[in-house]
Amino acid sequence: MNRKLEKEFQDLIKVVKEHDEKANIEKIKFAWEFAKIAHTDQKRLSGEPFVNHPLQTAKILAEWRLDSTSIIAALLHDTIEDGGAVRADIVKEFGEEVALLVDGVTKVTALRLKGSKEEVYTENLRKLLLVMAKDLRVVLVKLADRFHNMRTLSALPANKQNENAIETLEIYAPLAERVGVGEVKGQLEDLAFPFAYPKEFKKTIETSKTHYKEVESYIGKMRRVLLRKLTKEGIKAKIHGRKKHLYSLWKKLNRPEINWDFDKIHDVVAMRIIVNRIPQCYTALGVVHGTYRPVPNIGVSDFIAQPKPSGYRSIHTKVFGPGRRIVEIQIRTNKMHEQAEFGIAAHWAYGEAKSRGVKDVILEAMGVRTDENKLLWVKQLINWQKEITDSKEFLEAVKFDAFHHRNFIFSPMGDVYDLPDGSTPVDFAYAIHSDLGSYTKGARADGKMVPLDYKLKSGQVVEILKSKTPNVNADWLGFAVTTVARREIKKFIQGKTEAPKVDDNNRHLSNKGKKR
Ligand code: MN
Repeated sequence: MNRKLEKEFQDLIKVVKEHDEKANIEKIKFAWEFAKIAHTDQKRLSGEPFVNHPLQTAKILAEWRLDSTSIIAALLHDTIEDGGAVRADIVKEFGEEVALLVDGVTKVTALRLKGSKEEVYTENLRKLLLVMAKDLRVVLVKLADRFHNMRTLSALPANKQNENAIETLEIYAPLAERVGVGEVKGQLEDLAFPFAYPKEFKKTIETSKTHYKEVESYIGKMRRVLLRKLTKEGIKAKIHGRKKHLYSLWKKLNRPEINWDFDKIHDVVAMRIIVNRIPQCYTALGVVHGTYRPVPNIGVSDFIAQPKPSGYRSIHTKVFGPGRRIVEIQIRTNKMHEQAEFGIAAHWAYGEAKSRGVKDVILEAMGVRTDENKLLWVKQLINWQKEITDSKEFLEAVKFDAFHHRNFIFSPMGDVYDLPDGSTPVDFAYAIHSDLGSYTKGARADGKMVPLDYKLKSGQVVEILKSKTPNVNADWLGFAVTTVARREIKKFIQGKTEAPKVDDNNRHLSNKGKKR
C-alpha cells in the first residue's frame, strides 16, 4: 500500500463530502480499488504510479463540484485504454452510465482536430462538442484529465511537450470556455504557454515583472481603504487582486493598438469585491465611486442587469486609483463568482426556481426549431446552463441529446460531415469527394473494418479505403441514401454504358457545397 496515494485519496473524499452530502462514497472507494488493480505496476513517465493520474483527475472534478458519477468515471477513465480492465467489468460493477462517460472520454482523446483548415476548425470544434454533449460531464472529465496532464507535462520529451501544449491552446482551452469554465480556460492556457511558445513566454514574464510589482502595491493600498469603508456600511466583503492570466496578457500586448504598452492595459491586475447579496453590489459600487473617481466614458458596465451572452454577471468599473492609475474593479456576489469560475459545474451546487421546460429551452436555444437549423453553439450551451437550475433537472438536461436525429461523421483528419440517418461508408465517401466515392473499396469505422452497407453512427471516425481503379457497383444503389451518392453512382453506371467522358462543369457543380 502506498501511504502517500492513500492519503491523497482521503483528501479526495474530504473534498467530495464538503460539496455533496449525498455522494456515493462507497462506490467512489470501490472505483479507487478497481483503478489500483487495473493499473497495477504501471508507471507514468515521471516515475510515479500511474494510478495517481486518475486520482488527481477525480480530485480536480471534486473541486469543480461534480457529482459522484463523474468522480467515479474520472477514477476509471484510463482503466480500459491504458489499464487492464474491460468495458463489461465497468458496466457490471458501476453501471452503464459510468461506462458511457468512460467511452466518451476515450473517444474525445481519439479525435484529432489538428490539420483542419482554419475556416472549418471552429465549426468542427462545435460539432465535436455536439457529439460529446450527449452528456456534458464527458467534456468536464476530459478537461480535468488534460488539466492534470498539463500540470505534469515536464515529464514528457520536449517535442511531445510542445505538441500537447499547442493542442491544449487550440482545442481544450476553447472547449473550457465553451462549457463556461472560464477560470479553467485561463489556467490551461498558462500551463501550456511556456511549452508552446517558450521565447514569447520569457519575454512576457520579464517585461511584466516590474509592472506587476508596482500594481500590486497600489492595489494593496486600495484594498485596505475599501474594506474599511465597506465595513462601515455594514457589508462583509472579500477583496482580492487578481492577476491577468499570462497567456491572455501576452495576446493583449500583441494587439496593434496596445503594442506592448502596459499603460494601455487596465486589467493587468483587476480588483474583485465579492459580497453576499445583489443590492450590496450596488452599495459597494457607490462606495468605490465615492472613494475613487470613475474614468469617464470607459466607466461602468453592469453585467448584473444585463448579463453577457455567456451568462457572466458582475459589475465592472474603471477608476483612477493612487497616482491616477486606471484600475479595473469587478463587483459580484459569491454565487456569481462561483458561476464565473466553475460555470456549468456550479449548477450542481445551486438550485433556483425554474420557469420553463428544459427540453423546450434546449431545442429552441440549439436552433433545432428554426428553419435554417443554425448551430449557435456557445450560446446554446450557456443558455441552457442559465435556464436549468435544479440539479436533478440539470442532470436530465445534460443527458438529453437534442441532436439524436443528426449524424456527425468525422474523417481521420477531424473534418466533420453532417449525414442523414442510415448513411453508409459509400455515402460518406461521396460526401467527401465524388472521386473518392467511386474508388471506395472498404471502410474502417473507429478503427474497425465495416461492410460498405454499414449504417454509420454519429461521432464515428470513418476512414475510406481506396482501390486503384474505379470500383462503383450497381448494388450500392441498394443501400446508399444520400442524393449525391445515388446521383454519382447512377451517372457512373450510365457513363460506362454510354460515354465514359467526364463533364468538368457537371462535376464541379455536383461537388459544390458538399463539404461542411
Ligand atoms: Mn488520462
